[in-house]
Amino acid sequence: MEKIVSLCKRRGFIFQSSEIYGGLNGVWDYGPLGTELKNNLKQYWWRVIVRERDDVVGLDGAILTHPAVLKASGHVDTFTDPMVDCRTCKARLRSDQLAEKNGVKQCPNCGGKDLTEARPFNLMFQTQMGASADPASIAYLRPETAQSIFVQFKNVLDVSRKKLPFGIAQIGKAFRNEINPRNFTFRSREFEQMELEYFCRPEQGMDLLAYWLKERIKFYEEIGISRKRLHILDVPEKERAFYSKGTFDIEYEFPFGRQELEGVAYRTDYDLQQHIKTSGKVLDYFDEETKERVVPHVVEPSAGVDRAVLALICDAYDEDSAPDEKGKMETRVVMRFHPRMAPIKCAVFPLLRNKEALVAKAREVQALLRPHMNVFYDEGSAIGRRYRRQDEIGTPFGVTIDFETLGEKGEELRDTVTLRDRDSMKQERVAIKDLPEIISSRIR
Ligand code: ATP
Repeated sequence: MEKIVSLCKRRGFIFQSSEIYGGLNGVWDYGPLGTELKNNLKQYWWRVIVRERDDVVGLDGAILTHPAVLKASGHVDTFTDPMVDCRTCKARLRSDQLAEKNGVKQCPNCGGKDLTEARPFNLMFQTQMGASADPASIAYLRPETAQSIFVQFKNVLDVSRKKLPFGIAQIGKAFRNEINPRNFTFRSREFEQMELEYFCRPEQGMDLLAYWLKERIKFYEEIGISRKRLHILDVPEKERAFYSKGTFDIEYEFPFGRQELEGVAYRTDYDLQQHIKTSGKVLDYFDEETKERVVPHVVEPSAGVDRAVLALICDAYDEDSAPDEKGKMETRVVMRFHPRMAPIKCAVFPLLRNKEALVAKAREVQALLRPHMNVFYDEGSAIGRRYRRQDEIGTPFGVTIDFETLGEKGEELRDTVTLRDRDSMKQERVAIKDLPEIISSRIR
C-alpha cells in the first residue's frame, strides 16, 4: 500500500488536503491525473446507468439539507457509530472496529485496555444557515445523496412521466464525520457517491435486487477491475437495516483487506413512507392500468466514487521488466488501467526535440487527437524514458513521430507513425489520418 500511496502523490493522483498546514484528517484533494481518472469513472457510470437506458433519469441535488429531511429518514436520531475513548492515550475510537485480545477490546494506538463505555456518535456534519445562530437555523451537509432523490420523487416523476419500474440517479458529494478516517481515501470524511434509486412495484423488489447486483458486478468488470478480487457478501438479516428485505455488499480485496465498494439494497418503501408521514405530502404513483395508487418500493445500488478510484489504482498497479536505453532489463512500474479509465489516453512524442519538422508534425498529431481524447505531448529526454513515464501513469497508447513520418525513409511511409501499446509494448505503423478512429475505438 505504501508504494501506491507514494505513487499517487508523486505522479499527482491524490494529495492530502491542506497539506502545507499539516493536513486535514480524512479529507483528500485529487491532483491532475486523479481528477481525470475520477471523471472517467463518473462519466462511465452516468453513461451506463442513465444515458444508455430508457428507464433512468438524473438529478443533481443540493448538499445543504433541511433538518426535517434527515429527521424523517432517521439520520438525525440513528445515524451513529459506537464511540469509545481510551483513558490511557485519550484516543477516540470506533468500538465495533477494535481488535480483541482474550476477549478484551484494546486500543490500537497504545494497546491500553482501559476504555470508556461505547456511546453513540452522530456522523452528520451540522452547520448554520443565515446570520442567527438559533436551533431553527440548523442545516446538515448531506450524509448520502439518496435523500434528495426521495424528497424530489414526485417532481421528477411528474416531469419525466416514467412508468414503473424506473430510476433516478445522482452523483455527488456526501459528508460523514467518521470517528477514525483511515486506509488512505477508503474511509474519508468528505467523499462522493454514485447512487441509483430504482423504483418498482413491491412484487418486483427481490428480482430487481438480483438484477442490479449482476449489473453492478458487470460494471466493475467493464472498468477493468479483476473479477477474482471482487466478492459478494449477502448481508445477513440481523446486520441489515430493519426495513431492508435484502442487501448485498460488493467488496474488493484491497491491500489492507476485503472491504465494501458498494451496497446494493432492497429498501422496500421505507424512505418514501417516512417522507409521506413527515411532510404530509403525496409521494405515490398512479397506475393507469389498474387505476390504483401505489407507494413504490426501491432497490438502491449505492457506490463510493473514491473507493472505486482507489480500487482502480490498486488493481492497475503492476511491476514487470522492460529494456532500458542500453537494452538492459530494468523494473518497470506500469499502471494497467483499462483504456476507458486511463487519465491520459495517448501520449505524442517527436523522436527528437531539436528537429523542427518532427516537432511541428507531433504538434499537428496532438491537435488532431485532442477533440477526441485527453492527449499528452512530451518531447523531453530519450524516447524510452518518455515511454516509461507514461507506463507509470497508465497511458495506454503512445504515438511517435519519426523520420519515416516525414517521408525521409520512403514515400510510402510518409504521414505514418508508430502506435505503441502499453501492455504488450508492441508497435504498429499506422497512418496519421486513421489515428483518431483507431484509438477512439479502443478507449470507448
Ligand atoms: P461502511 O460500512 O464502510 O462505513 P456504509 O455501509 O456505511 O460503509 P453506505 O452508507 O452503504 O456505506 O454508503 C454507500 C457507499 O458510500 C459505500 O459502499 C461506500 O462506497 C461509500 N462510502 C460510505 N462511507 C464512506 C466514507 N467514509 N468514505 C468513502 N466512501 C464512503
